Amino acid sequence: MSNDRSAMNELHWLIDMVQTIEVGLVVLDSEYNIQLWNGFMENHSGVSPNSIKGSNLFEKFPELPEKWLKQKMESVFLLKNRTFISWEQRPYVFKFKNYRPITGRADVMYQNITLLPLASLTGKITHISIIVYDVTDVASNKLQLKSANDQLESLSQTDCLTQLHNRRHWQHCMEREFERYIRYQDPATLIMLDIDHFKKINDKYGHPAGDKVIQNIAYILNQSLRETDCAGRYGGEEFAIVLAKTTAEEALFFTERLRKKIEATETIFDNRKISVTISLGINDIKADTQTSSQWLSGADKALYYAKQHGRNCSRIYQITDSTEA
Ligand code: GH3
Ligand code: MG
Ligand code: MG
Repeated sequence: MSNDRSAMNELHWLIDMVQTIEVGLVVLDSEYNIQLWNGFMENHSGVSPNSIKGSNLFEKFPELPEKWLKQKMESVFLLKNRTFISWEQRPYVFKFKNYRPITGRADVMYQNITLLPLASLTGKITHISIIVYDVTDVASNKLQLKSANDQLESLSQTDCLTQLHNRRHWQHCMEREFERYIRYQDPATLIMLDIDHFKKINDKYGHPAGDKVIQNIAYILNQSLRETDCAGRYGGEEFAIVLAKTTAEEALFFTERLRKKIEATETIFDNRKISVTISLGINDIKADTQTSSQWLSGADKALYYAKQHGRNCSRIYQITDSTEA
């Protein structure tokens, strides 16, 4: 008698605990009809256990990812193994609002889910339990950290005046493109761009006006690029560009279009119109280009020759450029 009584007590306590525990507990039969729905689920869904018992889970909650969840549950029934679903795989299964004050920034509750096979006394898996853990704190901390890291990374790669890649990051992209050439022989062309007589612009209009000209050129340059191209601010008023899958002759079309566009553009500063021109050096990777710095130095030499030959022009690097120098 006392054994029965203690068993009854234990059961009573267990039911109490199931109801109040800060974890969602749901039991479904093999037809996905709800057999148990604890206090946590009631509090967050607003649906009481009495009103839901016996109902089909997917009819009651049509927004659930039915096909995906059924597939997971079927394999739990079949393999008699538990399955774990992390918030990183799927942020949540049950769409509950997040009310936690600390993680006020998250709108929804992030969830880890365990699907647990429940055996009858005969050992047959007749039911399945869905256990829902609220992991909003952990998830939003991790997401915030990631977003801060992404921002830091982007800041460390960006030139603040022009928003183009800074020199270090551009160099990294250029080296990656060079390695791609070594591995796949994908053509690629490097361009160095320098504003003509820029000292005079600064002298005549002032340094802030010069800055605006640099920004304007960066903007036009950025507008002219394809997704796979990579442009950076290489120095004060020098830019460097890698055009992927592009030969020197194709790059010449690009530079001439850019050069004419910049020549035709006026930068307005303090109601004064400022016009500038640019010179460009072009160098594609050749079979005998041995290092990325050789590739770069060829474009630099070509730029030098563009300056020597009257500025406001593009020039493709020729081997003779080196010997002339
Ligand atoms: P060249 O046609 O031979 O290129 O003549 P240049 O006067 O442009 O000569 P160079 O390219 O050597 O001059 C760079 C000048 O650009 C020197 C510096 O005063 C100016 N400069 C460099 N960085 C900045 C910057 O961030 N802002 C401004 N306003 N001027 C800069
Ligand atoms: Mg210059
Ligand atoms: Mg310069």
